Amino acid sequence: MKKSYETQLIGTPQGAVFRAKTDHAVITAYRSGKVLFQGNSPETEIAKWGTTKQSNHTAKQSTKKVKANPFNPPSTLFTNSHIGSDESGTGDYFGPVTVAAVYVQDHQIELLKELGIQDSKKITDERVRALSKDIIQLELPYSLLILHNKKYNTLQQQGWSQGKIKAMLHHHAIDHVVNKIADAPYHGILIDQFCQPHVYKRYIASEQATMAKGTYFMTKAEHYSIAVAAGSILARASFLNEMDKLSEKIGYPLLKGASNKVDQLIATIIKAQGIDSLDHCAKTHFINTKKAQAYL
Ligand code: MN
Repeated sequence: MKKSYETQLIGTPQGAVFRAKTDHAVITAYRSGKVLFQGNSPETEIAKWGTTKQSNHTAKQSTKKVKANPFNPPSTLFTNSHIGSDESGTGDYFGPVTVAAVYVQDHQIELLKELGIQDSKKITDERVRALSKDIIQLELPYSLLILHNKKYNTLQQQGWSQGKIKAMLHHHAIDHVVNKIADAPYHGILIDQFCQPHVYKRYIASEQATMAKGTYFMTKAEHYSIAVAAGSILARASFLNEMDKLSEKIGYPLLKGASNKVDQLIATIIKAQGIDSLDHCAKTHFINTKKAQAYL
């Protein structure tokens, strides 16, 4: 079993033989012979291992475990009116962090699917920009927040983790949408999960905010919820626009991501404009700032 997950192994917890993470589940195998499947769709992984009594038993157990999580959305959420929220730019050295929350009504879900609204990571930048215009034209209630680099860096230096920064952006975006739609009905709020729900609650509690009732979390939520997918498109399109503006300001086409090429570009910018110029276009706490030294 371990061999079959060879390329997906992650840190082995105490008492375990191995732990692996796939798109569907986290699989933990214990010395006792017990295997635990946890995550969004553990059935998909369990199915690979046949249906012996043993694995059936494990399947039931893990399904129960997943359902017991009060932050897991009910499957009816995806076909009913709901709010979804997603972010962009958090893994990119250059550019802001953007978060968008969108309210989608049940009768709009089919249309949005037909338009091709889907996970922004799966489509080209040009398609993201086009779909973002489509969403805006439909006049869905939404809130789009842009945290520019200067403010991001200030918060980071004040001790805010990126997780807390994201949590507060999601919180505000959702809050704006909830206020905007007034009495319009919704079955819940779904956040594309970036940290454990109790950690999210703690982050926003530290800023005297409380989580709205009916808030759910799910990883890869954009695959299941059209509202989260719409949020991911709006957030990504806004990130791309901001990157264009920043590139023009700086005079270099800024790169997405955080690769070695980014390190070289940082060095070029430092040489031309000084290290302080990074404060308004980059997330300076990323390790890339240090790695760029090698190219100076
Ligand atoms: Mn996301």
